Amino acid sequence: MSTTERPTRSVWPQLEPLLSQVQRPARYVGGEDNAVVTDHADADSAWLLLYPDTYEVGQPNQGVQILYEVLNERESTVAERAFTPWHDLDALLRAHGVPLFSLEQHLPARAFDVLAFSVATELGATNLLSCLDLAGVPLRADQRDDDDPVVLIGGHVAFNPEPLAPFADVVAPGDGEEFVLEVDRVITRWRRAREAGQPWPRAELLAALARVEGAYVPGLYVPRYGPEPATGGMAPLRETAPIRNGLPTAIPKRTVSDLDDWPYPKHTLVPLTETVHERYSVEIFRGCTRGCRFCQAGMITRPVRERSKETITEMVEHGLATTGFEEVGLLSLSSSDHSEIQELATDLVKRYEGTATSLSLPSTRVDAFNVELADELAREGRRTGLTFAPEGGTDRMRAVINKMVAEEDLLRTAETAFAGGWRQLKLYFMIGLPTETDEDVLGVADLGRKVVEIGRRYGKKNRVTLSVGGFVPKPHTPFQWAAQDPPEELRRKVGLLKQRVAGERNLKLSYADPEPGVVEGLLARGDRRVAEVIQRAYELGARFDGWSECFSLERWQQAIDEVGLDRDWYVTRERGRDEVLPWDHIDAGLDPHWLWEDWQDAQRGRALEDCRWMPCYDCGVCIGLDLEHQTGHLPDGRA
Ligand code: SF4
Repeated sequence: MSTTERPTRSVWPQLEPLLSQVQRPARYVGGEDNAVVTDHADADSAWLLLYPDTYEVGQPNQGVQILYEVLNERESTVAERAFTPWHDLDALLRAHGVPLFSLEQHLPARAFDVLAFSVATELGATNLLSCLDLAGVPLRADQRDDDDPVVLIGGHVAFNPEPLAPFADVVAPGDGEEFVLEVDRVITRWRRAREAGQPWPRAELLAALARVEGAYVPGLYVPRYGPEPATGGMAPLRETAPIRNGLPTAIPKRTVSDLDDWPYPKHTLVPLTETVHERYSVEIFRGCTRGCRFCQAGMITRPVRERSKETITEMVEHGLATTGFEEVGLLSLSSSDHSEIQELATDLVKRYEGTATSLSLPSTRVDAFNVELADELAREGRRTGLTFAPEGGTDRMRAVINKMVAEEDLLRTAETAFAGGWRQLKLYFMIGLPTETDEDVLGVADLGRKVVEIGRRYGKKNRVTLSVGGFVPKPHTPFQWAAQDPPEELRRKVGLLKQRVAGERNLKLSYADPEPGVVEGLLARGDRRVAEVIQRAYELGARFDGWSECFSLERWQQAIDEVGLDRDWYVTRERGRDEVLPWDHIDAGLDPHWLWEDWQDAQRGRALEDCRWMPCYDCGVCIGLDLEHQTGHLPDGRA
C-alpha cells in the first residue's frame, strides 16, 4: 500500500542537531530492545500510541506496552510510540518547525492514521494538547478534515471524557485489547477505500467508528444545559444526548473477560535510559472489589479477573528471557488479594533463588499476611521499607471510606513488620474526606506516633513516614457527589498535623501541595464547558501540570476567570441526587442507585464487605457485563 497522503520522511536529520541542546536527549532516540520497526509502505493502518508525559514516566506504562504489541502483531498494522517533549525540546521543535515524531522511526505524527492517547490522570490534559499542537493537528475535532489523523483518547479520563470531548474524535472507556483491534478493522477499510480512490468523508469514518462497541464519538453527542440560576453558579447540565437516532444513549465500557487470553506484554521494551520503573511487569489481576469509596480505579475496573498462576509463571519466565530485566513486578490494584498469591510468590522465589532476579509486589494492604508476603519476597534481600495505606486516621473515618482496617490490626501489623526486621514504614493517608472532623485529621498523627513507639521497641533507628494527600472526588465512585476541600482548608488541616507531630523523633510528615488538586477536581468532575479552560490554560503556557515545578494555580485561575466559569461550583460543591452528572452517559457498569445508597451508607459510617468472598450486594457490574469474578480458589479452600 502506498501512503502518498501522509508524510513518510523521518525528521531525524532535523532533530539530531537539536538533541545536543536539551536535557536527557536519550528520551528521544528510541532504539530500545524489542521495539518494532515496520515499513509503513507495507501497512494498511498506522497507529501512534501517545502517553502525555515524559518518556521516563510513560515508557513503563502497561497499557501502552500491551496495545503496542497487540497492534503490531497484526501483519498489516504498524504501531509506534511518542511522548510529550520536555519544555526545552518543545521550544526547539517549534522554533525549527519540526513536528512531533515517533520514537521508532522518527516519523512525523501526521504520518499515522490514529493518534491514540492513554491519559491516566486529569493533569495530563495540557500535555495532550501540546502533542496535538506539535503534531500539526487542529486541537478541536470539529476543525479537522479528511486528511487529519483520528484522535482517540483512552485511560482513566475516558470515564468522564467531557472536559476533553472537543479535542477527541473517539473516546474509549475500559479495556483496550479487543477494542483497538475492532477500531483497526474500520481504519483499514477506510484506508483501503482511500487508496482505491473512493475516500470516505471524515463524518462517514466517525460514524463507522461510533458503531464499534464502547466507542464514544463526542461530536455525535451534545450537552444541553438548563437556565442559569438566579442565585449564582453555573447553568446545570440537563443531558448529554446523541444528535441522531441509532446512537446509544449510554456508552458501555469495554471489559476483557479472560486475561489468560491476553498474555501481554510478551516482549516488554527495554529502555536505554533511566525510567521510573525498570522491571518486567505482569498484571496478575484486573479489577478490585474491596469497595474503597474514594477509589475510581477500583470501581471502574470491576469485576475482578485474575490471571492464572500458570500463565503468570510463563509470562515471568518469557518476560525475563526477552528483556534481561532483573526485577519482576507482580502488578494489580491490590496484589496480595490474588487468590493464589502465596503459592505464586513461593514458587517464583524458589525458581529464581540464587539468581540476581528480585520480585516486587506493590500492595499496601494493612495486614500480617502482606508482611509475610513481603518477608517471602525479600528472603535474600534487605528489609528496608514497607508501605501501608490505611487512608483514614480513625476507625470512624475508615468505616466512612470503607477501608476496613481497625487500629488494633494496624498496630499489630506494624509490630509484625518491625519484629521481622523491617526498618521503615510508610503510611499513606488522605485528608479532606467526606464527614471528616479535626479529630479524624489528628488521628493520622496519633496513629503515626503509636507506630513509631512500636518501632522504637525493635530498634532506635526505626522510622515512620506519614504521607498525606488531599482527597479529590472522582466520577463513578460513591463519593462522586461529595464536596472537595478547598486548598486553604487542606493547608489548615496539614497545620494541625504538623503541630501534633512536632518534635516527634523518627516520625516524618510528608504532604502534597493541595493546589494541583483544584485542577484535578475541576477536570475530574467537569463538563464540556471546562474544555475552554484547558485550552486557555494551555495557551497561557500550562504543560506538565503533574510536575510540581511546572504547575501554576494562578495560570489556571486566570484561564477559569477568562472563560467565566465558577470554580467552586465545579470543585468544592456537593452534588444532589437528582443532578445530571457530566459522565452519566458513560456506563461503567455500576448501578447508579447502588452508588447513591453506598454514598448514604458512607455518611452513616456503614462499611461493606469485599464481595469476592462475601455475598454479592448488587453493584450491577457482574449482571450488566454478564461476568463473574474469576479467581483460582478462595482462601479457606472453598471452591
Ligand atoms: S455485582 Fe455483586 S459480585 Fe459483582 S462486583 Fe458487584 S457486588 Fe461484587
